[in-house]
Amino acid sequence: EAFIGAIEKANTALNAYVLTTFDKAREMAGESDRRLKAGESRPLEGAPLGIKDLFCTKGVRTTACSGILDTFVPPYESTVTQNLWDDGAVMLGKLNMDEFAMGSSNETSHWGPVTNPWKSNASNAPLTPGGSSGGSASAVAADLCLAATASDTGGSIRQPAAFTGTVGIKPTYGRASRYGMVAFASSLDQAGPITKTVEDAAIMLQSMCSHDAKDSTSLPNALPDFSSFVGRSIKGLRVGIPDEYRLDGIPGEIDALWEQGIQWLKDAGAEIVRISLPNTKYALPCYYIVAPAEASSNLARYDGMRFGHRTEAASSLTDTYELSRSEGFGAEVKRRIMIGTYVLSAGFYDAYYVKALKVRRRIAEDFVNAWNSCDVILTPATPSAAFQLGDTEKAADPVQMYLNDVFTVTTNLAGLPGMAVPAGLDSKGLPLGLQVIGKALDEGTTLAVGAVLE
Ligand code: GLN
Repeated sequence: EAFIGAIEKANTALNAYVLTTFDKAREMAGESDRRLKAGESRPLEGAPLGIKDLFCTKGVRTTACSGILDTFVPPYESTVTQNLWDDGAVMLGKLNMDEFAMGSSNETSHWGPVTNPWKSNASNAPLTPGGSSGGSASAVAADLCLAATASDTGGSIRQPAAFTGTVGIKPTYGRASRYGMVAFASSLDQAGPITKTVEDAAIMLQSMCSHDAKDSTSLPNALPDFSSFVGRSIKGLRVGIPDEYRLDGIPGEIDALWEQGIQWLKDAGAEIVRISLPNTKYALPCYYIVAPAEASSNLARYDGMRFGHRTEAASSLTDTYELSRSEGFGAEVKRRIMIGTYVLSAGFYDAYYVKALKVRRRIAEDFVNAWNSCDVILTPATPSAAFQLGDTEKAADPVQMYLNDVFTVTTNLAGLPGMAVPAGLDSKGLPLGLQVIGKALDEGTTLAVGAVLE
């Protein structure tokens, strides 16, 4: 009831929830109450959660914040959310996001932008909570849920977490099932939580991840006890600092925070090692070919015929396809479909898509080589603190917006776990995050290092 009250009070201003499910929440909480009284409690008994509107929830509208799915009610539940309900969690509602998770500011949502609960001490202008999981980050930061689900294709868990002073972790590709998660770029998409603390992140991750026969890329590996890593000593652990992440034009405050993080880890007994990830400079161009290519293919299913929005203006079959899609998709999604279709087209497939796949493998190999000299990697999470909503420079030039992902896309391309941890405030009083990158399947060490930094 406290969370419901908080949502009723704050959501009009923040726009973090696009749908609330309070009746369902009360029903689920009632069941939790009964179990707690009977001494039968499950791991997340009664925990009130917000669910990113990318996860299909049976009988509860799921739109991926796109006009093309604005009335879609899934007949099935995503595996990630089913795992949470099986563990006793309670659903407060569905959280805002960039349309189909394409964006870095939550401004491409069909339901309007989300506001960051943090304010700069220099201006009163509303700030973005980041994207695409802006609703998840804003809701957790403003205490409109205890924790939230999110998804990360190129940074959409970590960048919003960094912008709102929350914790966000993307596990190894394949740890969490993609079944019932609306697809953006299938080889990069991965679910994970946004939480207040590293310990909460470990608990949520434990529940969200599972082997799932309904997702052919789901990993069969057993899950370790993630919570047992939180608070573990990192004495003797080798922490890699990649030269190539020292970018020109990054604010001095970001560099200073990185140095601070390095010092904290040294103080905790870690050994700091200089490493090289030479193909880092190709990561953004590579991501912005692979992700739109897969998106253009995934989004072909929205044809106005099978489900989702159908135009009323069509007089032929082709018209139905074309008008339904032009009416239903927003500008950023259309841009991605056009880029993706272009790089996959007969004349350009080898020059762009196949080349990007080769570069992607080089980027993954950079990490494999780095693990010879370090156990975990520390970098900044974002190249800036939260920026203003309606930032005209970024709105006018999509590439400016894409630059936000410079530190995060590499782990998606390589399939590695990555976590953003709040590490300090900038001179405007806004949160900044550090990123911990772990070896494949080593979320445990990633969490252990994150717990030292928070
Ligand atoms: N900002 C990136 C993009 O727009 C990443 C999005 C994501 O991780 N879902 O593609």
